[in-house]
Amino acid sequence: MLFDPYPKNNLNDLYDRRAEIERLQNGVKYPLTVIQGLRRTGKSSLVKSVLNDMIYIDIRKYSGKGYISYRDLIEEFNNAINRDLKDRLRDVFKNISGINILGNSISLSWKKNRVRLIDVLNAIDDYYNNNNKNIIITIDEIQELIKLKGYNFLNDIAYSFDNFKSIKFVLTGSQIGALHNYLKMDDYNSPLYGRAYTLIDLKPFNREQSMDFLKKGFNEFNIDFNDAENVYNTLGGIPGWLAYYGFRYVNNSKDPMNETIKNARNTIIMEFCNFIANREMAFKRYYLILNKCIERSSWSEIKNYIENNEGNIIPNSVLNKMLNNLIDYSFIKKYDEKYELIDNMMRYAFKD
Ligand code: ADP
Ligand code: MG
Repeated sequence: MLFDPYPKNNLNDLYDRRAEIERLQNGVKYPLTVIQGLRRTGKSSLVKSVLNDMIYIDIRKYSGKGYISYRDLIEEFNNAINRDLKDRLRDVFKNISGINILGNSISLSWKKNRVRLIDVLNAIDDYYNNNNKNIIITIDEIQELIKLKGYNFLNDIAYSFDNFKSIKFVLTGSQIGALHNYLKMDDYNSPLYGRAYTLIDLKPFNREQSMDFLKKGFNEFNIDFNDAENVYNTLGGIPGWLAYYGFRYVNNSKDPMNETIKNARNTIIMEFCNFIANREMAFKRYYLILNKCIERSSWSEIKNYIENNEGNIIPNSVLNKMLNNLIDYSFIKKYDEKYELIDNMMRYAFKD
């Protein structure tokens, strides 16, 4: 069902995305694929619908946390391996230091004899190599790993890139600047420097796609829907909001539009709270900027707006830093010398 509010996991429920599907199928023949796209554009859906043999790890659940530990990372691998691949990999892990096989399940230890992630990857690669198959490791919302303390996972990806034949990485991120700041593919000092990779840029649906998506979704319920234009004009083309609207509608909600706006607003506010978690002092200022960006505004219009509100001068360098942060974390974009919110729905989160 197209309007299923959860990430899709089969191609029948995935609307369009033909070019991206093909690009991903091709990309995973090589060591590294990166999928960038705003929140709710369908990155997880794309990955889960297209890829089969996969270790899937979602870092989004750490977005509200201040930091991530090596233990957290090991536990994520532990859970993913036990969920999807334990029957296959149990024997492969038998003689690796830091891994215990307990009856049916695999246990990666992080205590005394803590496992080295690279040993885990090596064993997985060996197994798939021997079977002439590839295994995909997807790290969803990987930019969150910027908070991983005392360990650089990029070293493992780089090592894997250079040495393992069967492991292919797929990395996704919705905070697009932050994603690239984390991966640092172009930074000479970064582990991943100079590696070739496939980039998939998942865009929101355009007007035609959005209306067609709604039409096809409603068709599945034998509903002849003729308000698609209005829905698109209000919600924009982010698949997640459109799917949510359809879901509420077909479930006989009284006011699907209002509920969708509420849902989008809550999602965005939660993301803003996570963004602000390490920047609490600047909460009010960030809010003012976002509030001002509801209408497209120039740099000096934003500056004046803050200064009038605070009754204080804001140094140019401070303002620039804040604008760049908001761009990196995909809240605003700069276009034609003006700044604006990146998603229609944000106006409901940042109006006063
Ligand atoms: P992301 O991982 O980018 O945040 P998700 O994959 O979680 O996005 O998708 C958000 C919502 O939108 C889900 O309800 C999903 O079912 C829906 N969705 C996204 N892309 C599509 C698509 N191409 N076809 C149908 N539904 C989609
Ligand atoms: Mg996702």
